Amino acid sequence: MKSIREADVKGKRVLLRVDFNVPLSEGTVTDDARIRGSLPTIKYLADEGAKVIILTHLGRPSGIGFEADFSVAPAARVLGRLLGAEVLVSPEVTGEASQQMVDALENGQVLMLENLRFDPREKKNDVEFAAELAKFGDIYCNDAFGAAHRAHASIDVLAGMLPHYSGLLLDKEVEVLGAMLESPERPFIAILGGSKVSDKIKIINNLINIVDKMLVGGGMCFTFLAAQGYDVGKSIVEEDCLEDARNMLAKAAEKGVDIVLPIDFVVADQFSESATVAIRGYDEIPSDMMGLDIGPASCELFKSVIMEGKTVFWNGPQGVFEMKPFENGTRKVAEALAANKAATTVVGGGDSGAAIAKFGLADEVTFVSTGGGASMRMVEGCELPAIVALNA
Ligand code: AMP
Repeated sequence: MKSIREADVKGKRVLLRVDFNVPLSEGTVTDDARIRGSLPTIKYLADEGAKVIILTHLGRPSGIGFEADFSVAPAARVLGRLLGAEVLVSPEVTGEASQQMVDALENGQVLMLENLRFDPREKKNDVEFAAELAKFGDIYCNDAFGAAHRAHASIDVLAGMLPHYSGLLLDKEVEVLGAMLESPERPFIAILGGSKVSDKIKIINNLINIVDKMLVGGGMCFTFLAAQGYDVGKSIVEEDCLEDARNMLAKAAEKGVDIVLPIDFVVADQFSESATVAIRGYDEIPSDMMGLDIGPASCELFKSVIMEGKTVFWNGPQGVFEMKPFENGTRKVAEALAANKAATTVVGGGDSGAAIAKFGLADEVTFVSTGGGASMRMVEGCELPAIVALNA
């Protein structure tokens, strides 16, 4: 994979695929983290005198042409503010109007094409659509780590049609996650959570081959406890994953990997912020209550394990962190990660990224991945279509 820094971009039309799939509310961007994520690449290209043509998808339009609710214009306005320069927006994806705007670009100028998903061929990895996009550029650069697991036209076939390079954000993501998975400093500790085991079976199975210890909290730990015969009351259990859980525990034991489960919980009589709550041990969960967070003794235990690590990876909240009475476990894990300055600490995006930002600790860890789905695919040990295409 060649980094865009290796290309001579001056005066060249660079097709830059980014992930500006930002949340919108009434036409306003409510979280600009994804735009900021690719800002260094965009600035670099503009400063080097490239003609920058930005491609992104945004949300889930129906794929029948322009839909105002999914226009990239609000993202372009935010980008313009962050860059301190005008960002032009083409009224369509491919076509004559876009061609004219591309032809009129001057060195250092930035143009955004409309939402790629206005054209149904984007998601179909359509070769003709990619060829229409390729006409607009001399060089292709992919900085869309958040979309790197999708084999869509602007990510996959388009890369093969032009000299292709990775952007600075994609470089950083692949470097940090790749090093963590391939040559981690040990001990390597993984902390997993979230609601469902079924979503994380591949991740756990792959991590068992790599880590030294795995802490498992969140809703998914109850399937592991139930698999060992404990009564977990009304806590969330995936009955059809009990066998998988037993297999994972057996595989971990065989590999000498400790799977550490919580030893106590915050239990509640209902799934509600105003529930009656209590602290109970893992083997004394009342039959009419559910565990909605890990308890204080588990927080201490998890912290001590996290502090042992030289590499620490975290994915998945430890409790229902969206509700105040059940946010403590997730907060304590975030704090322990932030406190372990001797380790490379990596947060795997998605909910955990949102949680660490909520607690104001995002700058205290080594790296927060911008790509929830893409980073999870990497941790599962899968190849990402974007990276395969950039390596070809
Ligand atoms: P996931 O999308 O699988 O990563 O799960 C994230 C969700 O898991 C969050 O919205 C949490 O509220 C939820 N969660 C965490 N712990 C529990 C629990 N003990 N019971 C039910 N849901 C939980």
